Amino acid sequence: MSAVFLASSVQITGPGFVLTDETAQQPYLLDWRKRYLGKALAVLLPGSREEVAALVRLCAEHGIACVPQGGNTGLVMGSVPDQSGTAVVISLKRLNRILAVDIENNTITVEAGCLLADIQAAAEQHQRLFPLSLASEGSCTIGGNLSTNAGGTAVLRYGNTRELCLGLEVVTASGNIWNGLRGLRKDNTGYDLRDLYIGAEGTLGIITAAVLKLFPEPKAKITAFAALETAEAALSLLSLAQASLGPTLTGFELISAFSLQLVLKHFPKLKNPFERNFPYYALLEISDHETESHAIDLMEKMLETAMQNASILNAVCATSISQSKSLWHLRENISAAQAAEGMNIKHDISLPVSQIPHFIALTDTQLETAFPGCQLVCFGHMGDGNLHYNVSAPSTSGDVEFIKNQEAINRIVHDSVNSLGGSISAEHGLGMLKREEIKLYKSSLELSLMQAIKMALDPQNLMNPGKLI
Ligand code: FAD
Repeated sequence: MSAVFLASSVQITGPGFVLTDETAQQPYLLDWRKRYLGKALAVLLPGSREEVAALVRLCAEHGIACVPQGGNTGLVMGSVPDQSGTAVVISLKRLNRILAVDIENNTITVEAGCLLADIQAAAEQHQRLFPLSLASEGSCTIGGNLSTNAGGTAVLRYGNTRELCLGLEVVTASGNIWNGLRGLRKDNTGYDLRDLYIGAEGTLGIITAAVLKLFPEPKAKITAFAALETAEAALSLLSLAQASLGPTLTGFELISAFSLQLVLKHFPKLKNPFERNFPYYALLEISDHETESHAIDLMEKMLETAMQNASILNAVCATSISQSKSLWHLRENISAAQAAEGMNIKHDISLPVSQIPHFIALTDTQLETAFPGCQLVCFGHMGDGNLHYNVSAPSTSGDVEFIKNQEAINRIVHDSVNSLGGSISAEHGLGMLKREEIKLYKSSLELSLMQAIKMALDPQNLMNPGKLI
């Protein structure tokens, strides 16, 4: 049966695009954190939406499950197949064309396999901004961004990927092509199918193209790095920055002392902006539509006020693009520095912004009591209430042994999040990693409504089974 399936797949894609060799398959089966290696019957590389649709129809005919994949940078084991070896990976990476740019409508239409960085560059060529920005932007695809409703560093001003998408083209679980590539900002004509497929992690269908919103390119971007005594001070600084900078404030990231310390250790070319260490730091970015000097003036005035009211202890303001990039590198390299340091237990949580200091105080104490000496790597998109609150082994014990406490640590962190009205997955999704965990925190009614949607759109349960739900 599988021989017939594979031969039919080759007929659809042409030779060279059906990978059955283990070595060739490996990059598609290993998750980004290198903690999970799945198995697949084949990795399929279609070159057009028609080929995607034909492959999905073939899967449906043979009862073969398919795992859609973009850049495979997801952090919850959603883009790799399980261990059964019976599913196929359908990689979208050959669907990588920019299809159209409509300057007056401020939209760009792209295929799902386009790299995020290529979409940003295409927008820039037309003096427009596509504001979605993630540290993985050189390898992740817009199909993956949409399917995980990715967040990133500019959510504070522009929203998640959902807010940046106007239309979608989707290959449904039965292999039909739904053309919803509309560039409309208003369209109240029934259930919002687009919003169902966004954030569905490939469990309802395969996104093959999208219409995305563009924005005017800012004239200047100014970055500042502020030193803080406490997480409460970060909250005061955020409130002040929002009040005085308004919509020009496009980024507000929190970085704990230990997070910065790891980056400086593993990226020795990067420098600490200050001569001494502080408990917390905030990275702020403003995007201004007047001039660079206007932007610097806005930022400096706000920082002066923050200094006067003691919200911050020190600050530097980047005056060149290279200085600004160096500050951003301190933030963007935290995940890589942590990976270089060893294994850790990751959490991607969100809270009402006002609860963040309370969450940190409460959870730090609980973890330190239960696991004395554990090291907390706390950083993230504080402006939109999203923290990456990761837990590493005490310096005196090994990471492999420590990781065995994952279940108990997750319980402390996620119970704490839940008690403060937060979410256990802010921007990475559920995948396989949090599929069971979410059952502890979502109501049975909400879960059964989600199950009903899955059954209605994918009755054979062939679209990325075992993920999300
Ligand atoms: P993949 O990993 O290939 O897939 C992710 C999920 O989407 C899977 O469930 C997959 O089945 C599904 N999928 C992929 N393509 C399609 C498609 N065309 N149709 C249907 N389903 C599809 N995420 C954030 O939100 N914010 C961040 O700031 C952020 N920073 C990161 C930094 C680093 C260093 C890394 C490694 C990851 C980061 N991520 C972040 C996570 C990740 O990059 C994002 O989730 C990204 O959106 C995934 O895109 P991808 O193309 O790699 O998708």
